[in-house]
Amino acid sequence: MSGTVDPLLAEFVWFGTATLRRRAHVAVGQRACPTRAAPYTSAVATVHQLCRDSDCLGIVHDVYARVLGRLEQLGESLAMVAERPGYVRRMVGSQVADYEREARVRRGLPAKPTRNDGIAGRVNDALEECVEGEWLRILFRVMRGYACRDGRTSSAWPLDAWTGEKSAHDGGLRGVGTAAARAELLRDIQTVLRVAGRVAGKPWVNDAILHPLQTCMLPLDAEHDKAAAPQAQHADVVAITDLRRRFRRLTLAGVPVEAALRQSALEVLGAEPRCAVGDVLDDLVDPGGLQAQPMP
Ligand SMILES: [Zn+2]
Repeated sequence: MSGTVDPLLAEFVWFGTATLRRRAHVAVGQRACPTRAAPYTSAVATVHQLCRDSDCLGIVHDVYARVLGRLEQLGESLAMVAERPGYVRRMVGSQVADYEREARVRRGLPAKPTRNDGIAGRVNDALEECVEGEWLRILFRVMRGYACRDGRTSSAWPLDAWTGEKSAHDGGLRGVGTAAARAELLRDIQTVLRVAGRVAGKPWVNDAILHPLQTCMLPLDAEHDKAAAPQAQHADVVAITDLRRRFRRLTLAGVPVEAALRQSALEVLGAEPRCAVGDVLDDLVDPGGLQAQPMP
């Protein structure tokens, strides 16, 4: 890529690719992405060499280019990024999903693991005839989705989570985590695998479920929780940056601070601010402005 980078879009892409990038670091034996501030978003944001050496920075460039391509396809300019940040964040999310899907296919895994037509449709028809057939069809779908989900840290079926799903489905009372509930779920899983094997053949079950279950995994390390925890808040971090930018623009234009906060919150979060202006003012007036800068 060349030319200047839109700092806000770069920030959306940076946080939107957090999971992919962490996986790229883990794949080459590093525990997490060492770059803290999103590259291309300010004069001080520098990229760690490990991000250049792994796929981390490449993923950012790839997804950024995909989003640009999508904007162009839609006949939109980069102004769209600041005008409709929520929409652009979702666009980043779908480009990340495309990137992941293509990566999955390159590794020989199903592109759409939970589709219900074709062979899976025939398995569904057979499951329908079993006791609790409706539930077994749901279980068949979530099993395929789970097996092909990247970034799992275990190859065990999530019996307790699915106990909850089953109870939500049939209204039955089950003790999540109890031996009886786990045994019941295991039996259900065995039934699905048996029926799928009978209808679709063992090789299909291996390719679509059992092999991905064993392979789509990240090695679990001590840093896992530490590295994974902040990711949940990345969307919030981006939103706050956007909020700060809008707030500053409004106050510079002479809008009183309370009104500026309210309007920025409505634009970015779609809701009234739930705190007093004084609580967030220090944060908002912090001069962390974004400037465009050339790609290194
Ligand atoms: Zn990195």
